[in-house]
Amino acid sequence: MKYNILTLFPDMIKQGLNSSIIGKAQEKKLINIETINIRDYALNKHKQVDDYPYGGGAGMVMQPEPIYEAYKEITKNSSKKPRVIYLTPQGKKFDQTMALELSKEEELIFLCGHYEGVDERVIEMVVTDEVSIGDYILTGGELAVMVMIDAISRLIPNVLSNETSAETETFDDNLLEYPQYTRPAVFMNRQVPDILLSGHHKNINMWRRQQSLIRTYNKRPDLLEKANLDEIDTKFLDKYCKKK
Ligand code: SAM
Repeated sequence: MKYNILTLFPDMIKQGLNSSIIGKAQEKKLINIETINIRDYALNKHKQVDDYPYGGGAGMVMQPEPIYEAYKEITKNSSKKPRVIYLTPQGKKFDQTMALELSKEEELIFLCGHYEGVDERVIEMVVTDEVSIGDYILTGGELAVMVMIDAISRLIPNVLSNETSAETETFDDNLLEYPQYTRPAVFMNRQVPDILLSGHHKNINMWRRQQSLIRTYNKRPDLLEKANLDEIDTKFLDKYCKKK
């Protein structure tokens, strides 16, 4: 996977994505993150990239030319036009399903806005997808792109050392993950559930499934509507609800 990020603050992204699992994935060449400084494509000698909004109003708007020039440069050798994602609070909400879908692409271009946003004409010309990471306003798209790259990259084969650790997680099958425990077995008088120490894998899996159902029911009941539940799950949940 190659990510190209058009930004005014490349250092912010490099610092944010160069450590831990995503940093290692880059070292192993499983992913390649290129930041392109939009300011390098400014056409004026002062390297100005923003200007006042036509029609008045607060703040500055990112100008179309430098963004378009940067986009042309990174796509000049591409045979297939990659998807260009503009990070914006007005976009489709990012979620695990979208992360999985994007993890199957070979190349993605991200456009990070700043200030009041980006001149609409360049969005119309180059952007294929508009994506938001949530219903709140950030100062720029840089944190949003880091969130997206982190979530997408961990779904790329071999990025996580243990392949299965991305398989039974929260949102897999629209259920929240079961509770996790590690050593010590007793912490401040709180004991790890006995079943997890039993070594009986079938029972452990059943207990985990039930915990997932209970958690989802209590914390995110909206997810249950989309979850793929079998007869045993439904019976268990019915019984649990009656007891509550
Ligand atoms: N004036 C814009 C509006 O009301 O829609 C908001 C501009 S915001 C201050 C500056 C930039 O931050 C945006 O162009 C976008 O790239 C990024 N941004 C802000 N909130 C975001 C969010 N929730 N998701 C993704 N990007 C966001």
